Amino acid sequence: MGDLVYEGKAKKLFTTKDPNVLLVQYKDDATAFNGEKKEIIEGKGALNNKITSYFFELLAEKSVPSHFLERLSTLEQLVKRVTIVPLEVVVRNVTAGSFAKRLGLQEGRPLPFPIVEFYYKDDSLGDPLILEDHIYALEITSKEVVVEMKEQALKINDILYEHMEQHGIRLVDFKLEFGLDHAGQVLLADEISPDTCRFWDLQSGDKLDKDRFRRNLGNVLEAYQEIEKRLGGQ
Ligand code: UDP
Repeated sequence: MGDLVYEGKAKKLFTTKDPNVLLVQYKDDATAFNGEKKEIIEGKGALNNKITSYFFELLAEKSVPSHFLERLSTLEQLVKRVTIVPLEVVVRNVTAGSFAKRLGLQEGRPLPFPIVEFYYKDDSLGDPLILEDHIYALEITSKEVVVEMKEQALKINDILYEHMEQHGIRLVDFKLEFGLDHAGQVLLADEISPDTCRFWDLQSGDKLDKDRFRRNLGNVLEAYQEIEKRLGGQ
């Protein structure tokens, strides 16, 4: 194993022999509310590694570039080294979560078109919602990168929304992170998993994602397993 480059809430990053390649190791840690709620959910890391690899492979087939290279083992992936843009890109198809709360809406109302939002990645501030003008005024990243991230996020939404629907799941909303490689290309990075998406069963409306943990609904691992099963796992 190489040197530890970074340890986040759900993953560790290590160097490899190739300076342009990093090893990602998924953890079983679950956190919510900016780290205030914490638990270990045994088996979650393996499921998120599998589900993220599945989505990154699906997106690669549809010409969406990402940092993903290959799934190495139960908990590990190889990825291209990128510099993460410190913005969380959220796409919403249906009202839920912070959007519903901020605007006083019931959850579950379909939106007339997908909404893209940016949140500034800063734990000490609790990742606040940020406007595009703020991004440029604070020189967080360039307009070109923002335009590219938005375009890719909407394309990813089209692909994933349809794909999940075919598997009986409603893609309510999700969060993406992007990075820049050594050539300055914008690449999808981080993960796409029940930790970072809201997945509702199309028939029953059951939540099959991290809201089960956030809201103490129980059966967290079972929900993640159900997603894996629907996507063709074991
Ligand atoms: N999300 C995430 N990481 C975060 C915040 C949000 O992966 O730090 C995901 C979350 O799982 C949901 C979407 O982004 O699919 C929108 O989250 P929202 O803004 O509604 O916030 P929340 O209700 O999770 O606080």
